[in-house]
Amino acid sequence: MKAYRESSHATELNSRARALAGACPGSVNVDMDTLADYAGGYGFEYRTTPDPVYVNGLTRFLELFTRHQIKATLFVIARDARVPEHAAILKRAVSEGHEIANHTLTHPRRLAALSDEERRHEIHEAHAVLSDLAGRPVVGFRAPCYDVCPRTLDCLRELGYRYDSSVHPSMIAPVIDAAVILKSRFRKREVRRGSYLQMLASLRPYYPGAKAPWRGARTTERAGLLELPLSALPWSRVPFYGTWAQMTGMALFRKSLAWLRRFDAPLNYHFHAVELVGLTDADLDARFRVHPGMARPVAEKLTAVDEMLGTFNSQYELMTLERLAALYQAKLAETCPRTQGVPVPS
Ligand SMILES: [Zn+2]
Repeated sequence: MKAYRESSHATELNSRARALAGACPGSVNVDMDTLADYAGGYGFEYRTTPDPVYVNGLTRFLELFTRHQIKATLFVIARDARVPEHAAILKRAVSEGHEIANHTLTHPRRLAALSDEERRHEIHEAHAVLSDLAGRPVVGFRAPCYDVCPRTLDCLRELGYRYDSSVHPSMIAPVIDAAVILKSRFRKREVRRGSYLQMLASLRPYYPGAKAPWRGARTTERAGLLELPLSALPWSRVPFYGTWAQMTGMALFRKSLAWLRRFDAPLNYHFHAVELVGLTDADLDARFRVHPGMARPVAEKLTAVDEMLGTFNSQYELMTLERLAALYQAKLAETCPRTQGVPVPS
């Protein structure tokens, strides 16, 4: 961590400068997919407890969040929160002000293809486990592999959720599906049932329609659950998130952020905790080498994520997704009188 220390005074000045400049709101969040999930995606079996994604990856993210004074959102698979070592790290995250959000019970890669009963169980059971861990009701959701469908949103409305953050308005979904099929040497041939049309969705928060999560609701239906789409670049729809940066490098990251800043949309940048796990530092199965960035040294990855967080912090007013959703609900209520506003949490 020594290589990227800076004084807390500088961080404080940054924060004051942002407030003075009326910075655009934004959020940084982490998907807590475990090694077992990645192995399944690439067509082999692997399970280790506690998982390095928690012990190494999440712990390193939490240290960086503390250093940059960032409150983040963690999308947790409830099955993993039942492991005592994982629960201890998640409770530490809660005590440090981070938000716990729902990433299903077992992380089915094709949530939209499940029966209504199975999908409901995945979402409701995870809600109970994670709310218990967080000590308050969880209010946000992300579908595994962005495979969101109207029936998933119905479940979230039943639970009174404030937001969904599954829509990825970039061309990444078909690219991921093709890469998984190729890297698994055609052992995996699953294709998502949620539509690829989400690549055409709005880049700004919106109330999703009843029939398609990637389309805005009619004026009279604008209330309740808000969609917080993941960040992607305007026009080109090039993705903008942690795994993509692992594949394409920091030069493209810097250029992409400069382009995104010209567009009036909040930042919704998501990492995966595995991005701060190294193949050698966690003594992993060599088959994980197929995953983007896994073979890179951890020190190099830490330096990159540290730069990303420092840059976000200097250009956006960062907050949890729950708070971001509440801000946009209030903002949309101002511009559309029929839209229902809700109080912003402190
Ligand atoms: Zn996931």
